[in-house]
Amino acid sequence: MDKIANLLEHLQARMRERGLTSTSSSGREHKYQCPDCQDRGIILNDDGTAQICHCQEQKRLERLFKSSQITPAFRGKTFDNFITVGRPPAVRAMYDCAKDYADRFHELRGQENNWLVLLGEPGSGKTHLSMAVANRLLSQGITVLYFQHVEGLGELKDALARQGEARITTKLEQMKKATLLVWDDLFWGKGYPKDFELEVAFEVLNYRYLNLLPTIISSNRTHLQLLEINDTIGSRIIERGKGHMVVVQGREANYRLAGEG
Ligand SMILES: [Zn+2]
Repeated sequence: MDKIANLLEHLQARMRERGLTSTSSSGREHKYQCPDCQDRGIILNDDGTAQICHCQEQKRLERLFKSSQITPAFRGKTFDNFITVGRPPAVRAMYDCAKDYADRFHELRGQENNWLVLLGEPGSGKTHLSMAVANRLLSQGITVLYFQHVEGLGELKDALARQGEARITTKLEQMKKATLLVWDDLFWGKGYPKDFELEVAFEVLNYRYLNLLPTIISSNRTHLQLLEINDTIGSRIIERGKGHMVVVQGREANYRLAGEG
């Protein structure tokens, strides 16, 4: 392990020389994607041993699922730059709900109501808020699989057509078992979803439902429309979203919170 430690020290010194790393002691809010290993992928322990950093699991996931990459634009979506001033109360409600979910994630994690469900009217900030939660948790070392409905399903279909069952099974396993799955734009579109969409959604969401795995769902469909599309999928989402579900309906953005009459 000494060798690795020396090598890393050497590399660090080189990076410092070339101005690639922060020399300030308040380096934690520096531009590193992973402040824990400062993007080196390895963490050195005090006893001289080294371990692979948690961010490498995130990298592996993003390599496997091209469409799930956490891009700089994604990284830029935070609670701080989400604007609520001058917007309908529903937008504020959505912000509060997402923020509370992020704040209490570790407490909620193993509980039954551990999903965040943001539904309804387009343009109310569902995607931004989902990403803000994901970014907060990524910075705490939680692995996040981001699945954008249209692109993600496109990638799955492609994998099925070109590489067959085995490849799609690997991807589906990741979606089922990811520490946190963010499913953005579930059942995007207006018509009735295609069989393939329904099959993937059922397989993944039902697994996560049964195994109490935290999941963030955003969709332009309301909870009633989700129930109409598929009673089982819809009711599982509503059940797990109890406590952290906001449905925005209509232009003036009336809204209801989970658990309200
Ligand atoms: Zn790291």
